[in-house]
Amino acid sequence: MNWRNLAASLAAQLQIDLGEVDAIAMHGGDINRAFRLQGRRHCFFVKINRADRLSMFEAERAGLDAMRATRTIRVPEVFSTGADGESAYIVMEYIELGGRPGAGRLAIALSAMHASLHDRFGFHCDNTIGSTPQPNPFCDDWIEFWRRHRLEFQLGLARERGFEAALIDAGARLGESIPNFFAGYRPKASLLHGDLWSGNQGADAEGNPVIYDPACYYGDHEADLAMMELFGHPGERFFSVYDERFAIDAGYNERRDLYNLYHIFNHALLFGGGYLAQTRQTIERLLAQV
Ligand code: ADP
Repeated sequence: MNWRNLAASLAAQLQIDLGEVDAIAMHGGDINRAFRLQGRRHCFFVKINRADRLSMFEAERAGLDAMRATRTIRVPEVFSTGADGESAYIVMEYIELGGRPGAGRLAIALSAMHASLHDRFGFHCDNTIGSTPQPNPFCDDWIEFWRRHRLEFQLGLARERGFEAALIDAGARLGESIPNFFAGYRPKASLLHGDLWSGNQGADAEGNPVIYDPACYYGDHEADLAMMELFGHPGERFFSVYDERFAIDAGYNERRDLYNLYHIFNHALLFGGGYLAQTRQTIERLLAQV
């Protein structure tokens, strides 16, 4: 990565004097290498990966821009995406992240973002969840969207990778039963973060919640809520404040595991091991529920 070139193009684009820059490696990224690009008076957050991953950064930018445009929750401003030699990059505003967002403030901001609705489910571009492709073709029917572009898409990847047939067959049976989870419930198409585990949330220096590293699409707000409960829990206060602003349907608890199956399955595709057993168990539990 030629940091001087990048700094020069940022300086020209933003009409600023960056001076000599220093790229300081940061910890924490799962997929990419993260850096703080430090100039004399300005500072940027930069992620880099192989040049053939540029479309991943472009899709990340589309998601960050969509969330930011709602003006409901703090989201880093993206300045640039591109490729330089063997590296692709995304450059965004550097936000000093300190600790966890407060439950009440997060609930207010996120429920407002989820109130940004679309007339269909999907997104104007495909993106990735972790490094797995995530297709988002627009669709009028949520159940159809979830079945085809989430569950069946993953079953296809599992088949390609030689996962056991019993798991794939059970997953296909679950696909047929999905309507049973939605009796009397018609989800709205909310703007979702799409990958809202605790590692993708923080608070800025003023305590404002900040969300980043999304896999955005328009879908049932319960999918974001469920993921917040998968690796941790945002707390009861989060749910009570959220529910006052954007009512959570009484059947949410029955759908939570269905939504989280998507992330567990994705972990099985990415890492295998214990996640494979967890995927199998979750499918069996969901089949027993319907
Ligand atoms: P990856 O795509 O590799 O998972 P993330 O986007 O999650 O990387 O970023 C890695 C870490 O960098 C995050 O966990 C967070 O602590 C920090 N981070 C993310 N965005 C910013 C930002 N705009 N400014 C400062 N730090 C950030």
